[in-house]
Amino acid sequence: MNDSRKKIVAGNWKMNLSLQEAQSLTAELLGMIQDEKNNDSHVYLFPPFVYINNIYRQIQNSTINVGAQNCADQISGAYTGETSVTMLNSVGASAVLIGHSERRTYYHESNQSCANKINLALQQGIIPFYCIGETLNERNSNQQFNIIEKQLMEGIFHLGAEEFSKCVIAYEPVWAIGTGLTASPDQAQEMHAFIRKLITEKYDATTANNCSILYGGSCNDQNAKELFSLPDVDGGLIGGASLKSRSFMNIIKAFQ
Ligand code: PEP
Repeated sequence: MNDSRKKIVAGNWKMNLSLQEAQSLTAELLGMIQDEKNNDSHVYLFPPFVYINNIYRQIQNSTINVGAQNCADQISGAYTGETSVTMLNSVGASAVLIGHSERRTYYHESNQSCANKINLALQQGIIPFYCIGETLNERNSNQQFNIIEKQLMEGIFHLGAEEFSKCVIAYEPVWAIGTGLTASPDQAQEMHAFIRKLITEKYDATTANNCSILYGGSCNDQNAKELFSLPDVDGGLIGGASLKSRSFMNIIKAFQ
């Protein structure tokens, strides 16, 4: 990783934990982070919607941030079951995951709806974490670079440089999410460097150099150090390993 960029470790809790478990996990993390005075990584927790405000109250006045796992692609109105960015703002969310592969696969989210969500999040001052990644079939047929380029072009490259620089990119190969399969360091570095090259071509070298690009997909406290030491990997979006305070804390400490 490069020292000029923000180091970020984000925990995606998905649809796990009771409120009490979520609060205990947060309390444990708060205690551990307070003991780590020299750690300069930025930590984000992405709990289910219904716990965001509880977690926000717990992490207020700490270095931890809280975000949402999704948002509506409309600003308000008759959209039963949806949650808008203004609502997220009002309960304390400062970031939102957009285009997670589980949303793309199970809820048919398109790059275009991701683009709408990114616009709305930015209007509310909420940081979009735009998730991109190829499936196993796409990698096996050597389509991974085309897929990533398309997801960037259609989902986020409509932004001007100033707005783009407020966003975080998370590269998450779909075949590595929740499977125990991790991209090899070579595969991760190759794709992160490719993403940074596309950002340079679309915007400029400074914008690309300042953009935090996270790796996600079975990242854990055993492999985080190696992944985070790669020149174009600026941290991780962590699923399963973010549900236990000790393993998540070890990942937070994995930057060299
Ligand atoms: C994720 O869901 O963003 C993720 C990376 O999950 P896991 O770490 O469990 O593979």
